[in-house]
Amino acid sequence: MHDSETVTTFASLGLRSALADAVTALGYEEPTPVQREAIPLLLSGRDLLAQAATGTGKTAAFALPMLHRIAESGPVGKRTAGLVLVPTRELAMQVAEAMHRYARGSGLTVVPLYGGAPMHQQIRSLERGAHIVVATPGRALDHVQRGTLVLQSVQVLVLDEADEMLDMGFADDLNELLNRTPDTRQSALFSATMPSRITAIAEQHLKDPARINIVREKPAAGSVPRVRQVAYVVSRAHKPAALARVLDMEDPVATIVFCRTRLEVEELVETINAHGQRAAALHGGLAQKQRDRVMGLLRSQKADLLVATDVAARGLDIEHLTHVVNYDVPASPEVYLHRIGRTGRAGRAGVAITLAEPREHRLLRVIEQYTKSKIEVATIPTVADLRARQYELTSAALREQLVAGKFDQVRVIVESLSDEFDIVDIATAAVNLLHVASAGGGDDREIPAIDMSKRPDRTRDARERGSRPPAGAGAPRLRSTRDQSGEDRGPRGRQHRDTGDRLVRLFIGAGRQAGIRPGDLVGAITGEAGIESRSLGAIEIADRFSLVEVPDSMADAIIDAMRGASLRGKKVQVRRERF
Ligand code: AMP
Repeated sequence: MHDSETVTTFASLGLRSALADAVTALGYEEPTPVQREAIPLLLSGRDLLAQAATGTGKTAAFALPMLHRIAESGPVGKRTAGLVLVPTRELAMQVAEAMHRYARGSGLTVVPLYGGAPMHQQIRSLERGAHIVVATPGRALDHVQRGTLVLQSVQVLVLDEADEMLDMGFADDLNELLNRTPDTRQSALFSATMPSRITAIAEQHLKDPARINIVREKPAAGSVPRVRQVAYVVSRAHKPAALARVLDMEDPVATIVFCRTRLEVEELVETINAHGQRAAALHGGLAQKQRDRVMGLLRSQKADLLVATDVAARGLDIEHLTHVVNYDVPASPEVYLHRIGRTGRAGRAGVAITLAEPREHRLLRVIEQYTKSKIEVATIPTVADLRARQYELTSAALREQLVAGKFDQVRVIVESLSDEFDIVDIATAAVNLLHVASAGGGDDREIPAIDMSKRPDRTRDARERGSRPPAGAGAPRLRSTRDQSGEDRGPRGRQHRDTGDRLVRLFIGAGRQAGIRPGDLVGAITGEAGIESRSLGAIEIADRFSLVEVPDSMADAIIDAMRGASLRGKKVQVRRERF
């Protein structure tokens, strides 16, 4: 594990100052473990095979060196010099957006390409010049086949979430795309899991790759503190409310909330304070004097909680810390362990709470495997849970008073009111006053619960699918996984007007330019597959391809039947449409 008192900077990893400045401006205080390892290797020109899940900072780990090397390679004109292939449209947008922010001021343009979006807009972006393309494989290949995306000048290629791409049946597309890039390119493959299919791709397409894995060492014996570890799966938008709710339930003495970036710390402090709590920010941008002031506030319990980045909280020793909150899943198990070790000291009970976005769920498992301890995944307390807890606290406070006695001065109030009111009513009104004063109003909006047990466990899926034939044959089944996951779903399937069958679209690799007309498609499908024309749905004919709606239940049989068939005298590719 790296020395917790020394700070590695982005510049010290060898990145040009413009890039180091760009990430500092985004509030990143130091590289995450995968960035510390991957960036120098990629800058040196090596190919790389990296095992890292979402949430580890892997995007910057490949994006920064890619931008650096392309910027240093001299003028690239309008040519595409960097290609990042990702499994889903969400990831394409997310990676492109991150790269766009890192590339600010460099003059390099980043263009995302994914299915389900109009072709012509993407073509226009490509024509204007796309130095870096972030694409889903199906759409990238469509553009390559149309000649709108040219890969001959690609210097750096990244396969991101490669295991997911294979699971989704993109193996053939990947092979084809890789074969169209120059042999001289640098390649990096990132994957959360390393099944043999991934290592096989690496062997075929990567040149003597360096290997990294974010979990390198086993934790030292006894370094896993005995604290209660709980995670809540919650969407980003509901995190501030979830944090408030969880802390209301926990009723901590002192809490430290860890955020990834300086900007996140500042935003969260503002949100918490706007809701009437007292939070103080601690990050690397503070001068020593401000830092001392913040620490003083916490020690004297004038602040309820401290919101900090890892760098700023380093070396901090807060005696009475009862709760550590990870506002995001930390970038590595080591960082997690380091954070939660701040509580539960000297035999005291401690609680470690992690707010995880659904996509970060996998990283929780990586942490559990590393620490060999269980993280309980709990549901965010409901408004009713919170109310029940508040009643409990009010009741406990009353019990304390009753046991302590010593309230003769106010007995007279009760006695005089009892002439007029029932004694139980008086007690109820008094309890209500106390309850409202101590519990306050609270946020009574429900926070949507996300049940991870109902989402497909991709790690398991990947393992189970390992033995199946990859791509092609497996593609239809793999598509249904994509539907369940709610990702990259594209336009929803329609139902047939008459039969009520669910319709899916087949991609047929010939269109207007090949002289295809609707009758050709209907004729070929009904003739080859022996189905009736009225079971077909809408037909769309584009310049170079066509899309035909067919019943989902017949799609595989139609694809099989069309395999040997020709349209207007030419063999064509027929497959399910990918988004
Ligand atoms: P990724 O694993 O690439 O999806 O990144 C997860 C999140 O961590 C993203 O929101 C990034 O903006 C953020 N991030 C990446 N690198 C750093 C860093 N060095 N410091 C703080 N946040 C980071």
